[in-house]
Amino acid sequence: MSNSSQSNAPENQPPREYPRTPRRTPMACQFCRGRKLKCDGLRPSCSNCNRRGYPCNYIPVNAPQS
Ligand SMILES: [Zn+2]
Ligand SMILES: [Zn+2]
Repeated sequence: MSNSSQSNAPENQPPREYPRTPRRTPMACQFCRGRKLKCDGLRPSCSNCNRRGYPCNYIPVNAPQS
């Protein structure tokens, strides 16, 4: 039985594009988060909030998790 030339690795996994850094996550303001909008993270007001005239609030991610 020498038929073990096939790999068990599935080819459904897409090639990794870039390592995901735990930090520097794309910051989305509260409005965009609530509406599932793509926030461009502009300060002090992103395009979505700026266009609608909403106050743009960003939640700081410096909250210590312990
Ligand atoms: Zn936004
Ligand atoms: Zn905003």
